[in-house]
Amino acid sequence: MLKNDMLEQWDRENFFHPSTHLAQFARGEAPQRIIRGGEGVFIEDREGNRLLDAFAGLYCVNVGYGRPEIAEAIAAQARELAYYHAYVGHGTEASITLSKMVMDRAPAHMSKVYFGLSGSDANETNIKLVWYYNNILGRPEKKKIISRWRGYHGSGLMTGSLTGLHLFHNKFDLPLDRVLHTEPAYFYRRPDPDMSEADFVAFCAAELEALIEREGADTIAAFIGEPVMGTGGIVPPPAGYWEAIQPILDAHDIVLIADEVVTGFGRLGSMFGSDHYGLKPDLITIAKGLTSAYAPLSGSIVSDRLWKVLEQGTDENGPIGHGWTYSAHPIGAAAGVANLGLIDDLGLVANAAETGGYLTAAMRDAVAGHDHVGEVRGEGMLCAVELVANKDARTFYETPGKLAGAVVAEMAKHGVIARAMPQGDILGFAPPLCLTRAEAEQVVAATARAIRAVLD
Ligand code: PMP
Repeated sequence: MLKNDMLEQWDRENFFHPSTHLAQFARGEAPQRIIRGGEGVFIEDREGNRLLDAFAGLYCVNVGYGRPEIAEAIAAQARELAYYHAYVGHGTEASITLSKMVMDRAPAHMSKVYFGLSGSDANETNIKLVWYYNNILGRPEKKKIISRWRGYHGSGLMTGSLTGLHLFHNKFDLPLDRVLHTEPAYFYRRPDPDMSEADFVAFCAAELEALIEREGADTIAAFIGEPVMGTGGIVPPPAGYWEAIQPILDAHDIVLIADEVVTGFGRLGSMFGSDHYGLKPDLITIAKGLTSAYAPLSGSIVSDRLWKVLEQGTDENGPIGHGWTYSAHPIGAAAGVANLGLIDDLGLVANAAETGGYLTAAMRDAVAGHDHVGEVRGEGMLCAVELVANKDARTFYETPGKLAGAVVAEMAKHGVIARAMPQGDILGFAPPLCLTRAEAEQVVAATARAIRAVLD
């Protein structure tokens, strides 16, 4: 343990925390939590409190904390070769091996994987590839990108624009041009309470078609969506949603980008969300589960169809002018190889389906009857509890986030970390995929107790 009595003060004075209320933090009003260790699904803070991390960091530590197999792979790679670049045909044993492991797991129609560092930069890559693709095909006007309100795709300039949450636009002059937003697949927040699931799917499809009609299909390059919406509220789509959306995109020659930063590598109980919902995307974004966050690494998986055009583009124009110094960083790649091996060896995809299903069912049994619980929903190892002011009228609280924040704070007092999702009162759960039933029960008990303590 790092013994340093100054750490809390240094933190307030020096550290610019992402996604944090800067003023409150500097004044000492916003919470400060310094984590010093982790093992399995538990983390430990500096005071020695052991907390069950039911959000796997930021839904990324999928194999759980403290895996020696990954730590040793990283150390061995650092000793052998800490870095070499991947430009102009260079590679390392780790990055090439990982590309093979990713493509062995990816849907069959995919061709190549490009490696970046974060989900945000992988999505920036995807947008650039779609623009490049349409330029090579002689369609320079076909450049707009459709995403969904409440979708989350990163917080860069373009990806922050695609993210459909106001917090990520406010005062940043976003969204940029070329970005369009449409209705999210959020049945619980449907515009008309009398809509059935099928009605709502038809409504989402009609909204998308109307947007394409208004803008002109010849101006729209791509549609980006998470198979299950994550940060916008952990919302599995209603039945038939993707079956309705994909043909509309195909009819207008609009590329589908499946943002699988959360869903890739097992979280839904399938290796990819695209397989789970029968999607045929041309680009798949991967990040978190690729290394279980033991090192930063992301990727853009490119379809055969897109790849052929990218190759043609370089024949016509020379090498593709896109790359980061740290693309396919060997330490991240070594972590990825060890991590994907562990996911297989431990059967974590199957456990995500089984124990994740149990978590959502047990959560429903424990809290769905509460007057202020509007919905309990989940898919694989993702679960959410949506709190409402009035259950029958389906009305939301006027100060979104306050009560979910209070419930999450109460849960932490009893040793469980959940996440208050932005723009609503939604408790989010995305534990490591190695969660056991006993641990799921601990999460449910802490949630039920905290909901009663805050809302009764
Ligand atoms: N896409 C999705 C679906 C995400 O959930 C996230 C991060 N939560 C991102 C992209 C951005 O990833 P990063 O934070 O690594 O840039």
